[in-house]
Order: sequence, then structure tokens, then C-alpha cells
Amino acid sequence: MDAATAPPPAAVEIVALTKRYAAGTPPAVDQIDLRIASGSYCCLLGPSGCGKSTTLRMVAGHESVSAGDILLDNRNITHLQAAGRGTAMMFQSFALFPHLSALDNVAFSLKMKGVSKVERHRRAGQLLERVAMGHLAQRKPAELSGGQQQRVALARALITEPRVLLLDEPLSALDPFLRIQMRAELRRWQKELGLTFIHVTHSQEEAMALADTMVVMNHGLIEQVGSPHEVYNHPASEFVARFMGGHNVLAVPGGGLIAVRHDHTRIAPDGEGLAADVTDVEYQGTYVLMGLHLAESTPERRGVSVQLTERAFAERPYAVGERVRLSWTAADARVLGPGATRPEARSPGTPSVRQPLAALASMAA
Ligand code: ADP
Ligand code: MG
Repeated sequence: MDAATAPPPAAVEIVALTKRYAAGTPPAVDQIDLRIASGSYCCLLGPSGCGKSTTLRMVAGHESVSAGDILLDNRNITHLQAAGRGTAMMFQSFALFPHLSALDNVAFSLKMKGVSKVERHRRAGQLLERVAMGHLAQRKPAELSGGQQQRVALARALITEPRVLLLDEPLSALDPFLRIQMRAELRRWQKELGLTFIHVTHSQEEAMALADTMVVMNHGLIEQVGSPHEVYNHPASEFVARFMGGHNVLAVPGGGLIAVRHDHTRIAPDGEGLAADVTDVEYQGTYVLMGLHLAESTPERRGVSVQLTERAFAERPYAVGERVRLSWTAADARVLGPGATRPEARSPGTPSVRQPLAALASMAA
């Protein structure tokens, strides 16, 4: 694939997409709407079982669609064969054939299409050069490092000249050190190739490191779509705030919930604010993370955390058992919406994705 002939990236549009595996069970994916910009890195994020892989497999054409549509640059691909869609899939742990050389792994799909050996080796060789693996083309997967295997898997996916690359938990089975290296490399390749990537992960850290756009899913619904910065700093619902981590969810007088980041929650030995008791103190190097129990709260929302810089903690350490007061500024409080609702429960015209409301007034009074 020469740069001049490389296919352009495609925008992906998902309209009221639904998957119901069996009658009488809740849908695995429930009328979701999503637009993914051409050439962007999109991460589908959420807990196990929320419908990420089902969504990705429907886009790939590996799973039938119960209702709704999938468009690639305005072309409806919902009922096309997987091979005719302009998408390609990269699987967990790369799923290379162990008995084939890197070159033959990359050339495999061309062999299936009946492309001559000379031609498929030429094209596979070019792609291996492209991912800086040309010199290792004759190695078997077991003779390659994790990073090299990932590049072979990438070249193998690219040989079909996809306009959208689909990745289902490609890094989840790797050890933590390799995972961080490989994700930096994936990000670099996505930018260099200029393709649209849709990457499924259950790790919020991975999604934040990779994504231009994060799509947070829960129970087959989309809870929030936004840049990592938007989602982390303006979680739309209690689910998103808790799933992303790093936030305290607090009930405010008059009903309603706010989220305040652990590092924006202020702590004082006395004065104004919510009474809380210190339950743990964890040293984390650059910061100290304190666990606390609110004195007045429902059991599910009693636990909160405060993150202090190492220096702030050194200046005024807190001990387990100490009673303190928690406060925050109005600018640091995010009002949480109710979260995504099932389509049948929506009133007409209600968007499935909640927008964050204006920040609520300070609670310190
Ligand atoms: P995720 O990738 O987010 O972990 P999945 O899309 O794999 O979630 O699964 C979503 C839901 O659909 C889960 O409840 C799961 O058990 C169910 N599911 C997934 N695949 C199948 C299948 N082939 N047959 C029946 N149910 C399935
Ligand atoms: Mg999955």
C-alpha cells in the first residue's frame, strides 16, 4: 500500500443500532446513536458485558444487526459481508498464526482471495516495511517480541486496505509494562496511517491515553461521548464519575448529586463543610490518598477520598480516626445527570446522552 494509493479514512455513523441475542432478554445494545469522525481514534469504554464487543462486531460484520444502521461515509454497510465493508479487525493478543512466518501471516487474507504468491508476498513485504518489520519477515511469531507481533498484526489487518480499523481489547492480555509501550505505538500508527480506529477497552486509563473521542457505555446504552478531558472533567452521570474514578459523588441538599475530583476536594481539621472521618491514608509517591467516611450519608455513598500532594500532607498530616471537614469551590463541583435511559423510557426528543448541567453552588456554607 503506497501512501498515494492508501484508502482515505472513513467516518462511521451508527443509527439506532440494536442487538438482541435472544427474545425476552434485554438487548445487549439498545438503539445507540454515534458518529465517529473520519481519521479519529475512538475508544468504546465500559465495564464487562456493557455491549462494547457486540457493537464492534456489528460494525465489522461479524454479528448480525437486530435493528438500526451502520454507515461508512454515508454508505449503508449494515448488511454487507465483512470483507466488503472497508473495515478490518485486530484481535486480543494479536491472534497470529504460530506456524506461519510474519510475511505469510500478513499475506494470509490475500491467499484466501486467490492472489498469486508473488503478488501477495510483494504486498505483504511492502506493508511489513511500512511498519518497520521488513527485516524480520521470515520470523515466526514466537521469535518476535510483543511489540513486533503487534506490528505484524497491524500489517495483517492493513493488507485488506481498510478505511476503519477495529480493535477489540488488543492490549488486555499483555503485561502492564508492554501494554503501556504498545498503546503508545498504536497511537503513533493511527496518526501516521491517518485511519479511523475504533478500539474497545474496559480500561479508562487506556481509553484516556489513546482516544480523541471516548464513548462510555453501560448496559447496552451510551452514557457519555466526549474527549478524555471532557469526560473526566465533566462526567455526565454518577455511573461515569464512578467508572472513570478519581471523583467523589456527593448528595446535595434539595436532592441531586455532584461530582468533585479527589484532588479538588478540600480538607480541613475543622470549620465549614461535610463532616468525615479518616479511614485510611495511602502514600502514593507524588501524592497521598486518604479514604474517609462521611458522617451523614447513605451507605452506598459514604466512602469518599481526598488526594493531597505529598508536600501538603507533610505540612499537615491526618491520622486514621481523625474527624475533618470537606469542602470544595463552586467551580470544581459538577452536577450529575440521571444517566442514560432505556429508549422505551425516553420521552420523544430526549437525547440518550446527557449533557452536564451548570456547576452547582459551593457546598461549604
Ligand atoms: P463487552 O464487550 O462490553 O464485555 P459484550 O458485547 O461481549 O460486552 O456482551 C454484551 C452482552 O451480550 C452481555 O450480556 C453478554 O453476555 C451478551 N452476549 C455477548 N455475546 C453473546 C452471544 N454470542 N450470545 C448471547 N449473548 C451474548
Ligand atoms: Mg468484549
